[in-house]
Amino acid sequence: MSVVVVGSINQDVVTRVRRIPAPGETVLASSLVRTGGGKGANQAVAARRAGGASVAFVGAVGTDPEGENLRDALVADGVDVSGLSQVEGPSGMAFISVDDTADNTIVVVPGANAAATALTPVQRSLVSTARVVLTQLEIPVALVQDAATARGAQTWHLLNAAPSAPFHSARAALLASVDVLIVNEHEALDITDVDDLEAAVTALAPLVRALVVTLGRRGSLVVCGEERADIAAFAADAVDTTGAGDTFCGMFAAALAASGRAPQSVDMSLLKVAARAGAAAAAIAVTRPGAQDAVPSAAEVAALTERTQA
Ligand code: ATP
Repeated sequence: MSVVVVGSINQDVVTRVRRIPAPGETVLASSLVRTGGGKGANQAVAARRAGGASVAFVGAVGTDPEGENLRDALVADGVDVSGLSQVEGPSGMAFISVDDTADNTIVVVPGANAAATALTPVQRSLVSTARVVLTQLEIPVALVQDAATARGAQTWHLLNAAPSAPFHSARAALLASVDVLIVNEHEALDITDVDDLEAAVTALAPLVRALVVTLGRRGSLVVCGEERADIAAFAADAVDTTGAGDTFCGMFAAALAASGRAPQSVDMSLLKVAARAGAAAAAIAVTRPGAQDAVPSAAEVAALTERTQA
């Protein structure tokens, strides 16, 4: 397998509202859409649609009908689900509200995503033969650590430390296991407990082979050793930024896998290629509603990249 994503899979319930309600306030939604989600599943779909990479998803759904639907959606996208377990009880759910400015709030109910703290033998075998293992923190931190330990010596571990709160419970172990840490600005500040981005970058960059801080429409910052690069965002008329980060991460992982390189040989030119690919895919994703549904195909990403170079 080129890319194995170890992470969450959710039924997303997305409402459109004029503005996000304040605490204690009720607002009426103009629409409701049910769609596949969860950072792990979103990133697996993004890596798969990048083309080229064989992608497996390692995670768990519940015994409810949503679980079957979520599994079928991954299969339809060509994602290997041999590492997708089924556990008694509900699948993960996420309640997302998107406002007129394309901003969002998200409440996640973990369900089956919280069940496992160690890989099953089938999952372990997938992880040990992967070129890139991509994790996030919507699953137990122990499962992330198990995946990091189970990977091969030449396998990349990309950790998207989102949400950032669980990071604090295993900070040192997680950082020691990571090749590329991907965080947004808010997560960078939270995991370093500082209030300015420069201080956060200075604290984190020496602890990992590479650091990527995504900055929304301002693009991303990539740090590798002493080198830094600002990767510009592609211009986009955003209607829904849900899943921009997931699209970026999946595409980034697929690009590293496609390079055939091992983490020991990481350098800035490879990271810039991967981050630019992630930025292009994410710029298309934000022009469409939803998370998984919004992830573009490899052809769409190539067309945007070529247009922008022309
Ligand atoms: P989310 O939690 O909404 O999925 P995130 O906070 O993890 O996203 P962002 O930093 O918002 O991640 O976005 C990831 C990348 O997506 C950015 O680095 C940028 O390249 C691209 N991106 C995000 N928003 C926009 C936008 N409005 N226009 C163009 N590109 C965007």
